[in-house]
Amino acid sequence: MKITSAKFIKGVVGEDQIFSDGIPQVAFLGRSNVGKSSLINGLTNSKISRESNFPGSTQEINVFLINKSTYFVDLPGYGFTRVSGLGKQKIGDLITKYIFNPNFNQKKIVLIIDAKVGMTEQDIAVFEELEKHKKDFIIVLSKIDKVNQSNFHHNLIEIKKITGEYPLFPCSSKTKKGLGPILQCILAKS
Ligand code: GDP
Repeated sequence: MKITSAKFIKGVVGEDQIFSDGIPQVAFLGRSNVGKSSLINGLTNSKISRESNFPGSTQEINVFLINKSTYFVDLPGYGFTRVSGLGKQKIGDLITKYIFNPNFNQKKIVLIIDAKVGMTEQDIAVFEELEKHKKDFIIVLSKIDKVNQSNFHHNLIEIKKITGEYPLFPCSSKTKKGLGPILQCILAKS
């Protein structure tokens, strides 16, 4: 499974018709600074998603067209404030209105967790909301190059206590390890 074209379509600040135009959507969700932009760039082998060192700097939903057939929907990073889950903060509101709008049907949601940090309270709350709404999602563990083997296994056990049998995809955007299986999963014909 390869990405042969990736194009920025638009930044969206609210509900938008683009989400009901029939093109399948893969949404990327995670705490700010979790490595979401790097993951999108790594998967697309491009620099379409800005990598930023300023957490919370992206406040729009960015939509990319991949292989002329799938949207990658880059949601703003949550967790910039101490509100639990997606809460009532502006960014949380934007994400919630997109993810839980019954008219916007994501083919897949990619929830990104930092492999070194593990699941924060907010990550857990978001995971539970996705499960409650029966969303089709996978969990990507980012930045595995930053964590040694024994810490990684410890974190993995802790994460699995929360996520149970949910599919986990460890990866590093830096070394590109683990990106192939993610692409395979999110671009697979459903
Ligand atoms: P975002 O806020 O979730 O979009 O996160 P970014 O993609 O901007 O990444 C946040 C920081 O983590 C940046 O300094 C990245 O260079 C770094 N980063 C992202 N992915 C990786 C990774 O796989 N390995 C390492 N070592 N650093 C990463």
